[in-house]
Amino acid sequence: MQKINLSESCPYNCAFCFNGRKPFVEFSIPDIVDNKVVICDPAFLSKKNVLSVIQKLGSKKVNNKVVYYEVLQGINIRDLTPEIAKALKDNRFKPIRFAWDGSYSKSNMYRVIDAVNMLLEAGYNKKDLICYILSNYYVSLRECLYKNKFFLIKNIKVCNCVYRKNYLDPKIYYEHWSKEEVEYYKQECRINNQLVDRKGYDPEIEKRLIRSKILPQTYKLN
Ligand code: SF4
Repeated sequence: MQKINLSESCPYNCAFCFNGRKPFVEFSIPDIVDNKVVICDPAFLSKKNVLSVIQKLGSKKVNNKVVYYEVLQGINIRDLTPEIAKALKDNRFKPIRFAWDGSYSKSNMYRVIDAVNMLLEAGYNKKDLICYILSNYYVSLRECLYKNKFFLIKNIKVCNCVYRKNYLDPKIYYEHWSKEEVEYYKQECRINNQLVDRKGYDPEIEKRLIRSKILPQTYKLN
C-alpha cells in the first residue's frame, strides 16, 4: 500500500491532542502508484476544497484499476456534510473512522447520530464504521462505557484511544484514570467489538465469567 499526506497538523486545537499545535498546512496530491492508499492526515476533511480532492483521488487509476482509500486517523465529524459523506463512499474510502472524544452529552450524542446517519445515507454499512473513543482523560470511565453501549446497540465497532501525556512518549500515565480503569475499559472495547463482529455471540464468555467474579473488588467505577 502507499501512504500519503495531503496536509499536516490540524486547524482545531483539542487540549489532549498534539496535532493542533502547529499551523495547518496543505499539500497537493502526489503521484498515486498503488491501488490501496492510506491517507495519514490528522485532519483530512479540513482541507480547502476537500470535496474536489476526494473526487480527484477517486478518479485515479493504477494499472487500469481503481484505487481504494483509507483515512488512518479518521475524519472529523465537525467537517462532515452529506455531500462529503457521499463523495467518500462514491470514491471508495473505507473504513470510515471518526471520534467521540468529548463527554457523554446530548449535543455530542446528536453530533455523532447526525454523522452516522449521513454516512449510512451515503451508502456505508455499519460494519464500515469505527468510532475512536478517548480514554484515560477527563471524560470518566462510566461515560465511556455509556458510549460503548450506544455503539453496541447500533452495531458499530469502537476503538480505544488511550490518552498519552507526552508527544511520542508511549508511556501511559494514570493521572485521570487508574490503571485498573484503563485495563477494564480495554476489555470492554474488546467485548463490544466481538459482539458486533459475531452478531451478539460472545466467544470469550468463559474467560469473562471468571474475570467478572473479581470485578467489584478490583475495579473502581467513577
Ligand atoms: S483531536 Fe482531532 S480535531 Fe482535535 S486537534 Fe487532534 S486531530 Fe484535530
